[in-house]
Amino acid sequence: MPDDLPLAGRGCIVTGGSRGIGAAVVRLALAQGADVVFGYHSAEERARALADELRAAHPGRRCVPLYAQVADAAEAGRFAAAALGHLDRFDVLVNNAGVTRDTLFARMVPEQWHDVMSTNLDSMYTVTKPLLMPLVKQRGGAIINIASSSGLHGIPGQTAYSAAKAGVIGFTKALAKEIGSRGVTVNAVAPGLIETDMTAAIPPDKAEFLKSLIPGHAFGSPEDVAHLVCFLASDRARYITGQAIEVSGGLVV
Ligand code: NAD
Repeated sequence: MPDDLPLAGRGCIVTGGSRGIGAAVVRLALAQGADVVFGYHSAEERARALADELRAAHPGRRCVPLYAQVADAAEAGRFAAAALGHLDRFDVLVNNAGVTRDTLFARMVPEQWHDVMSTNLDSMYTVTKPLLMPLVKQRGGAIINIASSSGLHGIPGQTAYSAAKAGVIGFTKALAKEIGSRGVTVNAVAPGLIETDMTAAIPPDKAEFLKSLIPGHAFGSPEDVAHLVCFLASDRARYITGQAIEVSGGLVV
């Protein structure tokens, strides 16, 4: 395994891969030697442009964008089956798709709760279920679930999101114990505040306040998260499982 290609020959499936953290994971996984199928939800053109760019940059590698709606079991099942069909082998699942619907709990309406739960937590079931047995039968692979500092510590205005991401961490730990004997690792990555469309919605004065809580006084980049995800996806992390690892610049220490 060349030092710069720790994912050489690995087949990866990434949800929410057209932008933000997911797109950074897709980019880095390709650069580290993987073939990647990634899901997009709303931004088809952006997804196709990313895939075209990466196929041109990495001739011979596969980079395939597919429509995915992870909040719905039937849709997620179709995505999973199609994704497997595009890969010669399947080794890594990155459950990255997620949404926020921030509001104080007293003001929260059922749709906000439901959107957050279905996209962030139900997707652990809908996407992982159809993709689990191929990894178990192969007796090797990695599942990486994108959680959040919000799920570890609780953030006001994010009761639903904190609950969903805490659920992602519980799911990760339990599944890691269920399938560890089959050589499949399951870990959660918990980003703090990362510069993506998700945090672009934070008003500037609140963003400045949040930065003041971070030791380095800056939000992280999607690449900061992608490096950990790709490490966990590689054989170098084969003895790491059931963990929730924060990438937050020390937001809470
Ligand atoms: P983003 O909004 O740029 O990306 C979210 C991705 O999820 C998009 O590709 C979007 O299309 C996809 N998605 C949303 N709903 C979907 C659905 N129903 N079906 C399929 N795909 C769907 O934000 P991001 O910051 O890149 O978020 C990526 C992950 O990181 C999410 O799970 C998010 O909760 C988590 N996270 C982000 C931050 C941050 O500060 N940006 C912090 C902690 C956790």
